[in-house]
Formats: sequence, C-alpha cells, structure tokens
Amino acid sequence: MSEFEIFEVELEDVYRYRLSYGGQSAYFHGLQNKTLVASRCSGCGFVWLPLRPICSKCYEPAHEYPLDGKGEVLTVVMLPETPEHLKHLGGRVASALVRPDGADTCIKAFVVTDTEELAYGTRVDARYLSEIRTIGDFYFVPDGRT
Ligand SMILES: [Zn+2]
Repeated sequence: MSEFEIFEVELEDVYRYRLSYGGQSAYFHGLQNKTLVASRCSGCGFVWLPLRPICSKCYEPAHEYPLDGKGEVLTVVMLPETPEHLKHLGGRVASALVRPDGADTCIKAFVVTDTEELAYGTRVDARYLSEIRTIGDFYFVPDGRT
C-alpha cells in the first residue's frame, strides 16, 4: 500500500469525566474555602505547597497545614497579555514564583498588579477564583490591592 492509498479523516472526540484529586483533595477544598492548604511532613517537618499526602523527601505521611495566604515574590515575568480568565480583575498580570509564608516550597502563580513591573521580594496575598477546577485557580495580589 502506498502512502497515497491510506484513507484518513479528521474526527473530534469529546470526553466528559469526573477527575478525582484523591489525596490532594484538601488542597482543592482549601481553595474553595479561600485558604492555601499545604501539608506538613510528620517525619521531617517539611511543608509542601501544593499539598502532598506523602513527603517526597522522607516518604512519611504529610498532614494538612493551612497557610495564611501571604507570601513573597521570588521571580517574576510580566505577561504581555492578560490571561482570559483574569481580565475581569483589571490591572497587569505577572507569572511569578511565590514562596508562601510557612511553606518550604514555592509555587508558580499569577500576580495581578496595578503597576508595570513587580519587584522581587514584593509581599503578596492570595485571592481565589469563584470556581475551583485546577491547581492554579487562585492568584496573588500585592499587599494593599483588593
Ligand atoms: Zn519528610
């Protein structure tokens, strides 16, 4: 069979299913309740955000550990365009690595700001989207922005 004899059509499949977040569910319940829920290892004390049910450093169980939602920008890149789901907030949006207070990890998140630039070390506070579906359905704002 030559390549010209291969019959091809373009089809579209749509799958609808319920995705379980299993042992990470507390993180998502936290987002729904406007709280960043980390986990703290029962063995070494390492604090993970996003929450991990088992510590990746020592493999002991890690338990829910709510944070206050505040943190510090470690690195930041201003985005040329505002992501569609954040346009209703106004302002500029940066993609940043943020170290939440009380966590030993950092997390990638959007920061919505009224300024053209965002400095390393900027103190930020978490805000939450109205519908929680993914790990990133929250964002930060600099302290003082509503
Ligand atoms: Zn550990």
